[in-house]
Amino acid sequence: MSGVRLNNVWKRFGATEVLKGIDLAFDDGEFIVLVGPSGCGKSTLLNIVAGLEGLSEGEVFIGDRKVNDVPPKDRNIAMVFQSYSLYPTKTVRKNITFGMEIRRTDKAKQGEALQQVSELLHIDDYLERKPAQLSGGQRQRVAMARALVRDPDLFLFDEPLSNLDAKLRIEMRTEIKKLHQRLGKSMIYVTHDQIEAMTLASRIAVMDQGHVRQFARPEEIYEEPADLFVASFIGSPP
Ligand code: ADP
Ligand code: MG
Repeated sequence: MSGVRLNNVWKRFGATEVLKGIDLAFDDGEFIVLVGPSGCGKSTLLNIVAGLEGLSEGEVFIGDRKVNDVPPKDRNIAMVFQSYSLYPTKTVRKNITFGMEIRRTDKAKQGEALQQVSELLHIDDYLERKPAQLSGGQRQRVAMARALVRDPDLFLFDEPLSNLDAKLRIEMRTEIKKLHQRLGKSMIYVTHDQIEAMTLASRIAVMDQGHVRQFARPEEIYEEPADLFVASFIGSPP
């Protein structure tokens, strides 16, 4: 189980400063939402926690371990993106078990894990289908199932619902919230949707131009915004 701590994290792409001294720490089991306008650095920050992107300066801890130089596969995390990135030629079942096969998890354990996540995410009915035969919402469920069977300490989501229509988005939002309550695992969730942030988060980090403007519980952000940017961003419709 793992909280996360970022100390003075800077990220530069050439002369462009994308993250400008981020300090952020949260506890094990929290649901942290990074919210802010497009281009403010949310994905870059998430990718740094995932290890997909290096940092220019600063420190990143997952649990007690400093992970600056730890490759993604050794961080015990799972990431869900907005593009579903499923294997198109494999069935849903294979998409979910493939990673376990590579890691040589024994067959009985694989079956058990598959059954658990299928029940949890209600995907039992389409295990034998290919991704092309699924709706957007179903694909996103499969992508989440694939992340879940890895049993990570930390889940990272980058705008996982932004390709879905409004009705499905709300349905999946509820599903993700339930998942968090049930698993109690730490989650970091990136979105530019204020409503999504307010309904999911235990704490929200409001980002703007490479800075965290405020990091607080949803009701605090709403009732006591730290500055004009936060007030107008949270107050404005998505
Ligand atoms: P967000 O996810 O909040 O929309 P990003 O983290 O994707 O923002 O991007 C933040 C800024 O960093 C943007 O201005 C983007 O153009 C820039 N950026 C992201 N990745 C790269 C890269 N690999 N090279 C150069 N600039 C990048
Ligand atoms: Mg992004």
